[in-house]
Amino acid sequence: MQQRMKNDLSRLLDVQEKERRLLVLEEEQRAIPRALDAFRRRISGIENEVAAIKNSIQGLQVKRKDLDLESESKLEAVAKYQKQQFEVKTNVEYQALQKEIVNRKVENSRIEDKILEIMEQVEEKERLVKEHEDVLKGERERITVEEKKVEGEIAKLGEQIVALQVERDKLLPGISPKVLSKYQRIFKNKRDTAIVPLVDYTCGGCHMLLPPQAANNVRKLDELVICENCSRILYWADGIAKEGEAAQPVSQETAG
Ligand SMILES: [Zn+2]
Repeated sequence: MQQRMKNDLSRLLDVQEKERRLLVLEEEQRAIPRALDAFRRRISGIENEVAAIKNSIQGLQVKRKDLDLESESKLEAVAKYQKQQFEVKTNVEYQALQKEIVNRKVENSRIEDKILEIMEQVEEKERLVKEHEDVLKGERERITVEEKKVEGEIAKLGEQIVALQVERDKLLPGISPKVLSKYQRIFKNKRDTAIVPLVDYTCGGCHMLLPPQAANNVRKLDELVICENCSRILYWADGIAKEGEAAQPVSQETAG
């Protein structure tokens, strides 16, 4: 009985050690893709900026079209007045038309200035778009490389996880089924430790003082002792064989 319990507890410790390592590896695996988050944020930031600039270019081009039409109408007016100048009879009439012509020409030259200004703005914005797109191209190439790296790291960790699971699974048949299922329930529930050492008279999991009888039972190795406070399985470190030593007698026991 004692030997059986010793074996179970020592194997559980081994299983637990592997399962805790598995939790760490699985968390690492989940965390790896987050390294790309900053990259993705930077890329989408630039993409948004490019979209905003393109938008404002479109706005400027609409404005420019309106100004073109305005300019056209000014020039048409000038042509019309110039034609009328040939038909008028008096100098006063001629001068009045001349004044209109000058006014329209001044107005048109203001419009042309505005058009020029807009063209310069569009040119500057198009230069910016080009600049951003060059940066984007580089960033996209970099993230493709990083994604490959991340995939590789995930796969590598995946292999380690599977290997560790295989190692753990090898240990399971050597543990009494009832003890094992108890452990598995507790581990699933606690997500950290299901089997904890007795530390003097306290539970190594929750640090509560145990009733003397419970502490003695842990040392006796006759039965599975559960902490009444945190429901973890207790073991006495001095009482059970070390991991390496435990494997031998157990395999002999199961073989015999
Ligand atoms: Zn406890």
